[in-house]
Amino acid sequence: MTTPETLKVLNQVFGYDEFREGQAEIVEHVSGGGDALVLMPTGGGKSLCYQIPALVRDGVGVVISPLIALMQDQVDALRALGVRAGFLNSTQAPDEQRMVEKEFLAGELDLLYLAPERLRVDQTIRLLDNGNIALFAIDEAHCVSQWGHDFRPDYLELSQLHERWPKVPRIALTATATEATHAEIARRLGLEDAHHFVASFDRPNIQYRIVAKNEPRKQLLELLRTEHPGDAGIVYCLSRKSVEDTAEFLVRNGIEALPYHAGLDAAQRAEHQSRFLREDGLIVVATIAFGMGIDKPDVRFVAHLDLPKSIEGYYQETGRAGRDGLASTAWLAYGLQDVMQQRKLIDNSEGDAAHRRKLGTHLDAMLALCETVECRRVRLLAYFGQQGQPCGNCDTCLAPPESWDGTVAAQKLLSTVVRLARERRQKFGAGQIIDILLGKKTAKISQHAHDELSVFGVGTELTDSAWRGVVRQLLAMGLLAVEGDYGTLVTTEASDEVLYQGRTITLRTEPKRPGKAAKSGKASRGADAELPEELRPLFERLRAWRAATAKEQGVPAYVIFHDATLRQIATEQPASLSELGAMSGIGENKLAKYGESVLETLNAE
Ligand code: ADP
Ligand code: ZN
Repeated sequence: MTTPETLKVLNQVFGYDEFREGQAEIVEHVSGGGDALVLMPTGGGKSLCYQIPALVRDGVGVVISPLIALMQDQVDALRALGVRAGFLNSTQAPDEQRMVEKEFLAGELDLLYLAPERLRVDQTIRLLDNGNIALFAIDEAHCVSQWGHDFRPDYLELSQLHERWPKVPRIALTATATEATHAEIARRLGLEDAHHFVASFDRPNIQYRIVAKNEPRKQLLELLRTEHPGDAGIVYCLSRKSVEDTAEFLVRNGIEALPYHAGLDAAQRAEHQSRFLREDGLIVVATIAFGMGIDKPDVRFVAHLDLPKSIEGYYQETGRAGRDGLASTAWLAYGLQDVMQQRKLIDNSEGDAAHRRKLGTHLDAMLALCETVECRRVRLLAYFGQQGQPCGNCDTCLAPPESWDGTVAAQKLLSTVVRLARERRQKFGAGQIIDILLGKKTAKISQHAHDELSVFGVGTELTDSAWRGVVRQLLAMGLLAVEGDYGTLVTTEASDEVLYQGRTITLRTEPKRPGKAAKSGKASRGADAELPEELRPLFERLRAWRAATAKEQGVPAYVIFHDATLRQIATEQPASLSELGAMSGIGENKLAKYGESVLETLNAE
């Protein structure tokens, strides 16, 4: 069904052999003038879906994107492929803008990137009227849905595109996949009659792992040292302070890391983002403000030191790993404190009860993912309404967690909470409750005469950390709740089912040595992980050549070649330009530009 024309562009311009799943149909449809709404996961390959039709069709492809800070890099990457691209946004000097406008009018551009607010300006409308438009691509289309996006007002205006230019095909793209968002994008942008393409949301090269949080920074360090030495990655933390502390901790331990959060000034944020994109193997420690639209292909891991608020957020963030299709890790450390903290945030959040309920539902789904004994991928895909098979590439598949009958433990714990409330009119946090169960004679126990309770010392069969696991899982299941600012535990309506109605509870066994349980067999999942030992020096030499070339040209290393391409070169060691041109990721332009110098690097000893 792929016509030679689009396949030719894929081969010659982008240097790729074949379309990824879903791409061919979309490219055909839009090239033929059809409207499309595309749902594809982060890293799935959305850009080609409008770039190729823009190249195939007559005129300029106009791309609406809110990610102003990334436009320069996007345009640079396209120019490196020999595609004539430009952008218009508020960061440019007036004469720069005039240049781009002139090129647009003269038909000297294939693609023009526009910030959405530009379309509110008459001058832009007139400009577009006077040019020849191949298509409109609306990137990050979920910005029109009600989820409180900064760009929403501008995106809502995009419905006028169709009214003003009814003949120009439109393609809207997003990685946000829930039914509600999907429907709203279609409605707001007038794309009900467009063809809707929903790709599989699976990202098979990402290994999902969720571990019990113990000493998170040390656990992170261990992960980086054993599995990701020298790799680029993103570490997400909840607060600015923990971002700063974690970045410092990594640097103290000899790992290059930069902080990124809203408290840094704009120039510093821009610098850190730019270094992340440009340098090999840099780590950014960030709040969730970082990473939207970052298309660095060789991010080898995404680590969460705090629990994300929703599966959607988690999937967007982890999706930033492994866009190049190579093995990557999504690692999350999660513990009792996270559940407490998130519940508290919800209780204290602004908005009405309905809003808080919604936040609660999102959190519950995230917790269920953390506590599942099933394949993580199957759970993730199910959340997006898609089916999957146990994947063999997540922690629960690789090391199936053991479970145990926690009914009696749950009863003991819940009845301690109930007794304190009924007999003493008291509420306590997890620490004191566990001390009571373990029969510890602490000062606080004596002070409150808790050793006189009938439940004192009835839980010595479990360790302190096992009890914390019980508390965490009961909280996750809604059988226990936290109240107030001090994390005091209270029962819920559902607690009665366990205490009085014979409901049985299955719990996950806490790993004895936290963090070790889920380790995969592979020692390293880094960029050169699957290369035989003897090829590593060659791969490193190619990387060094790439780094020097990128620096010389002031572009990110991946704009020259992806890791995957370098790896293929190292493995197959092409002897001529034509052999080199057959590698994935080497189109005509790059072959002409870098071919000789790659062959020289290969031959240099
Ligand atoms: P998205 O926008 O969906 O997050 P991108 O468009 O940035 O994803 O694509 C992710 C990566 O996959 C990019 O590095 C891109 O070059 C690469 N890619 C896309 N399509 C193909 C393909 N058909 N073959 C090989 N690599 C591809
Ligand atoms: Zn799995």
